[in-house]
Amino acid sequence: MLTEATVQSATIAAWMAEIGADVRAQRDQLTQLDAAIGDGDHGTNMVRGFDAVEKALAGRGEDAPGQVLITCGKTLVSTVGGASGPLWGSALRRAGRSLGAAPEIDGAQLAGALEAALAAIKELGAAEVGDKTIVDALEPAVAALRTALGAGEPLARALGAAAAAAEEGAQATVPLQARKGRASYLGERSVGHKDPGATSTALIMRGLVRAVARQD
Ligand code: ADP
Ligand code: MG
Repeated sequence: MLTEATVQSATIAAWMAEIGADVRAQRDQLTQLDAAIGDGDHGTNMVRGFDAVEKALAGRGEDAPGQVLITCGKTLVSTVGGASGPLWGSALRRAGRSLGAAPEIDGAQLAGALEAALAAIKELGAAEVGDKTIVDALEPAVAALRTALGAGEPLARALGAAAAAAEEGAQATVPLQARKGRASYLGERSVGHKDPGATSTALIMRGLVRAVARQD
């Protein structure tokens, strides 16, 4: 293989900007999903968090990708009150730590970082696939990324497969009864609604596809 796409600090910053644009565009939809089975603040939470992330990254172009992710994670933890803040905050911090000080990272390292993110979310939230949470979208995405990279797919295509798996996973939350988070208080009444956190997770994975596609 002549060139393998790598991910640099600028790619991470572009990813965060893509997430910001998407959650701003989908704020009302995310909020409506959360109004149905939660407290109606998921859109607001994500916008507040990723607005703050973009501000925190401005002028920090010198940091390694791992350090950039750690900054993003800390910012989410400190600015988002809802469950999604500490969950994604810990996820990005753990992803960043897994990368150390490497100036650029390849597909396998990115997959490792996303695996670390998933592990952090599962550790903190104690959710498994089927509980109607972020995990329902992120776990299949990480698995699809590993499978595609293992089959020799280029990173951009492998990430496309990961994002598609996240979307499928989010859609598959509709018939589920929530077993974790606020939606679980509703019991059977949570059935028939798409999980807001799984929905925004699919946006996060789409944002990564676009950020990586744009850098090549
Ligand atoms: P809150 O529920 O505190 O209002 P948000 O509305 O921002 O926070 O986020 C809700 C989303 O968080 C849910 O849709 C779900 O996907 C996710 N979530 C909640 N609890 C957990 C958990 N224990 N593990 C993983 N994800 C969770
Ligand atoms: Mg909420």
